[in-house]
Amino acid sequence: MANKKDYYEVLGVSQDASGDDIKKAYRKLAVRYHPDKNPNDPEAAEKFREATEAYEILKDDAKRKQYDQFGHAAFDGSSGGFGGGFGDGFSGMDLSDALKAFMGDFGGDSFLGDIFGSSYAGKRKKHGTVSRGKNVQIKLPLTLKEMHDGVVKIIKIRHKIECEQCGASGSKSGVYKNCPQCSGSGRSRKVVQSVFGQMVQETVCHRCAGTGKAVDDPCNACAGTGVVSGEDKIEVKIPAGVSEGNYITVEGKGDKGVNNGDSGDLVVIVIEKDDSIFTRHGIDLITEMEISFSEAALGCERMIETFSDKIKVKVSAGTQTGKVMKIAGRGMPILHNEKTKGDILIKIYVKTPENLSKEEKKLFEELQLLEQKPKSFFHKIMNLGQ
Ligand SMILES: [Zn+2]
Ligand SMILES: [Zn+2]
Repeated sequence: MANKKDYYEVLGVSQDASGDDIKKAYRKLAVRYHPDKNPNDPEAAEKFREATEAYEILKDDAKRKQYDQFGHAAFDGSSGGFGGGFGDGFSGMDLSDALKAFMGDFGGDSFLGDIFGSSYAGKRKKHGTVSRGKNVQIKLPLTLKEMHDGVVKIIKIRHKIECEQCGASGSKSGVYKNCPQCSGSGRSRKVVQSVFGQMVQETVCHRCAGTGKAVDDPCNACAGTGVVSGEDKIEVKIPAGVSEGNYITVEGKGDKGVNNGDSGDLVVIVIEKDDSIFTRHGIDLITEMEISFSEAALGCERMIETFSDKIKVKVSAGTQTGKVMKIAGRGMPILHNEKTKGDILIKIYVKTPENLSKEEKKLFEELQLLEQKPKSFFHKIMNLGQ
């Protein structure tokens, strides 16, 4: 607690910042440091967590006042009874709390727009009715090469599609009438008792599932719903630089809504397939290279196949096992900034020879003799060799 940062400092706002300024400042930080955008980056995750914790306190007028007056002590319960004001007190957030809080404050949609630059968030609100079909979520395994290059995939899914028989109307004749239950409003009201007294609660009409429509002559193929199970082929463009856990939303390609409601979205979640050569670490690619005793001692050249080209790697004479060689700028690209790439890191392993042939054994024995000679002489031989 003692070395917790000042919440205003964390968000980069002044003490008299307006609620709006605080929200803007937080949103900017949260989007920049969100773990989806910074995979395998504990520093970014910590910044995200810190900013979210600060925002959760400062966005709330009452909590902000407490904080202004008592600092962090207002929430840690150690200051003698103040923590009680907020239930169990507030001893800080962990990352999963922070992710939940962020989703609660901004939702997934607005964030999606930021990652993939789509106008998804804006379009979403037009049709608020429950007749909208469900979002369909699928996992899409990709090779590192596909993630490096970007790729267009055709995805086959089975989901709710429009009933062709009735043109999604659900009615044989194609004629709707107003739902008799809700008179076409799609909502039903009921009065409930609560601690605040009587309240009117509005819910979705059960009879028409919120569409406000009813049919007298239901279609046989879809039992009047306007949707049937079917197969769809959907093209999904994956940008270069995605990583596991990123998701891409294809608007209107989820389940078709009943009674000709809007379709939900298809949410494609990226999964990384194992690669036989490289292991991914953020935007860097790590691989291992085995070289022989003589190659380690004398130096050697090897060709390495990257995802974009072949590169000659020069191993210098006297290389030890465990040495890491770096090829800058040939790793994975950064999402939406694909010209900038991470590095390739090559870990060198010097292989000790086994099952020596007669000739090899002889050579090693000769080498051993040389090594046992006085040092000055040994050095001389090495120098001659160079
Ligand atoms: Zn039908
Ligand atoms: Zn109804």
